[in-house]
Amino acid sequence: MFDINTVRADFPILSRQVNGKPLVYLDNGASAQKPQVVIDAVICGYGEEYANVHRGLHFLSNLSTEKYEGTRAIVARFLNAPSEDDIIFNSGTTEGINMVAYAWAMPRMQARDEIVLSVMEHHANIVPWHFLRERQGIVIKWVDVDANGDLDPQAVIDAITPRTKLVAVTQVSNVLGTVVDVKTITTGAHAKGVPVLVDGSQGAVHMAVDVADIGCDFYVITGHKLYGPSGSGAIYVHPDRMSEMQPFMGGGDMIREVSKDAVTYNDPPMKFEAGTPGIVQTIGFGVALEYMMGLGMENIAAHETALRDYASQRLNGLNWINVQGHSATKAAIFSFTLDGAAHAHDISTVLDKKGVAVRAGSHCAMPLMEHLGLNATCRASFGLYNTTDEVDVLIDALELCHDLFA
Ligand code: PMP
Repeated sequence: MFDINTVRADFPILSRQVNGKPLVYLDNGASAQKPQVVIDAVICGYGEEYANVHRGLHFLSNLSTEKYEGTRAIVARFLNAPSEDDIIFNSGTTEGINMVAYAWAMPRMQARDEIVLSVMEHHANIVPWHFLRERQGIVIKWVDVDANGDLDPQAVIDAITPRTKLVAVTQVSNVLGTVVDVKTITTGAHAKGVPVLVDGSQGAVHMAVDVADIGCDFYVITGHKLYGPSGSGAIYVHPDRMSEMQPFMGGGDMIREVSKDAVTYNDPPMKFEAGTPGIVQTIGFGVALEYMMGLGMENIAAHETALRDYASQRLNGLNWINVQGHSATKAAIFSFTLDGAAHAHDISTVLDKKGVAVRAGSHCAMPLMEHLGLNATCRASFGLYNTTDEVDVLIDALELCHDLFA
């Protein structure tokens, strides 16, 4: 059962005030708040159960190893990955995509080889590919979104040429909320023999994910947006791609034996997890995913769809608010500007005075901003604990901005 009052009570921070007003937290696209179970797991992880993983034969090391490794099965279940061995832990999406770039793409891509990206990718799914462009001469092929902010899957598939080595697309735009049909893209790309990376940073937050059904080769998630600790995350890697990956970072548990002359590596996925990992963060990440699955991903999605519809109706009902992205199936993420000279930063500062937390700027998506012809927007991004009353508080605060700046 999904009872919004019970859910809200799980998140202690939601009962605090900001600038003398009840907090209205609408910056979930940047990072989500944590339920008490996650906070407790972190406190317990450090306060009662802490030791380094894998290496010790003592009680605490075994305990933290068991909990840390237990998260692998939880992530696999969350993503419907066939095996927990398909899951590589990391510190979040940025590290995850960089790992794919260095461990899989770099050894396989030569000058003039191509990667296909959509124009609405987050910088985390752009900059690693620019590294390969700068260092190895690969070519980035961009696919635009239409006037509603939709990405035509066929346009992505059509952008594939015999030189394409990878398609890398987000499942949900962190700016427009657009939901991308990653399954159709994957099917079409595979028909042309090209693997697909899906940036699930926003997608996994808002809908049930099934990597077996999507069929993608890499699916990347980040713990802090999934109501877990920052510094946690994971990639699902299809076993065929995993066997093609070369180690990216060296040291710690990724090795089997090291001599003066040679090194042999651990089996995947540990082959790709160098150094002491984010132990407690990862344990908390597992607890967060269990929390979401406990609420039911369908229930979360239904709640957020209702929020999206209400916010859509209210924001689009005011002709001085310019919402970017009108995809019919978008997630509850709204980027907008207001008529008049007010900069997004000024608007967010006024909203903050009313207790409303939003993000303002280019949202690490400068190519999309260029496509939209904007420098900055305000973004209200909703999470599982937000309410329609909070949408009303947002609108009231925006009306104040309109009065102040129009
Ligand atoms: N991709 C998308 C779509 C995102 O929204 C974000 C976070 N804003 C990232 C990648 C980067 O995630 P992280 O900062 O957790 O590495």
